[in-house]
Amino acid sequence: LLLKSKGSNVEEVFYFDSINSTNEYAKEIGRNSNMENVLVISDIQTDGKGRLGRKWLSSESSGVWMSLLLKPNLNPTDASKITQIASAAIVTAIEEFYNLNVGIKWPNDIIINGKKIAGVLTEMNSELGEINFIVVGIGINVNTKSFPEEISDIASSLFLESGLEIDRKKIIEKVIYYFYKFYNEYIKNKEFNEVLDINKKKSVTLNRDVFIIRRNETFEAYAYDLNRDGELMVRDKDGKESVVFYGEVSIRGV
Ligand code: ADP
Repeated sequence: LLLKSKGSNVEEVFYFDSINSTNEYAKEIGRNSNMENVLVISDIQTDGKGRLGRKWLSSESSGVWMSLLLKPNLNPTDASKITQIASAAIVTAIEEFYNLNVGIKWPNDIIINGKKIAGVLTEMNSELGEINFIVVGIGINVNTKSFPEEISDIASSLFLESGLEIDRKKIIEKVIYYFYKFYNEYIKNKEFNEVLDINKKKSVTLNRDVFIIRRNETFEAYAYDLNRDGELMVRDKDGKESVVFYGEVSIRGV
């Protein structure tokens, strides 16, 4: 893998045939060492993670399952931007290899033809208002031919959508390349506009009614924009506008 060249900041790569979860392993390194810009990749995950305790099924070596350990000098409230940087990197990388129309279901799912082909899981460790480390997990169904029944209606792969089989290494390299391109722009230059533009342009969440789950209550609202920080802005039935937080939104029909 050419991960140490090509403008990426990756300092160390841990590669596994099989592991419980690349995010868990990266967090372990984050807790127990001073290393950063560490990439953890596994052919198979036996306990891959989604948001809110959900599972990311990744028991086949047909996908890219990887996590980056980062130690950015950022305010914890800006950590959600890392998810959007990863989403933008995944979309940009995919479009270099495949002639596919790729969408982002705000903020962390990558969608093609209404089906989920990739996801991002960002986890933060912070105390006293400072970030100790961030782990950004990326799962991409690349050459997957079929899925377990529980997700066969909602999941797809780049192969199933395009008919094209691609060496996973190429995808890894491109995603990492774009991740660091966008990440360095943001961390070093505080420049987030390109990422925001991609998240807006590719959004399958904007300009439609979405369900918001807030404090055990579900209501419908119209998603009309992302603000400067990439947060979702919605307007409810009474015309009241509000900002939606990560984890609060679910989208009908996608
Ligand atoms: P969401 O953002 O869609 O609410 P998560 O980001 O938490 O969900 O991801 C976990 C969910 O994604 C699971 O509950 C399952 O529905 C779906 N899923 C699990 N594994 C895969 C996979 N390999 N490809 C596509 N979707 C998956």
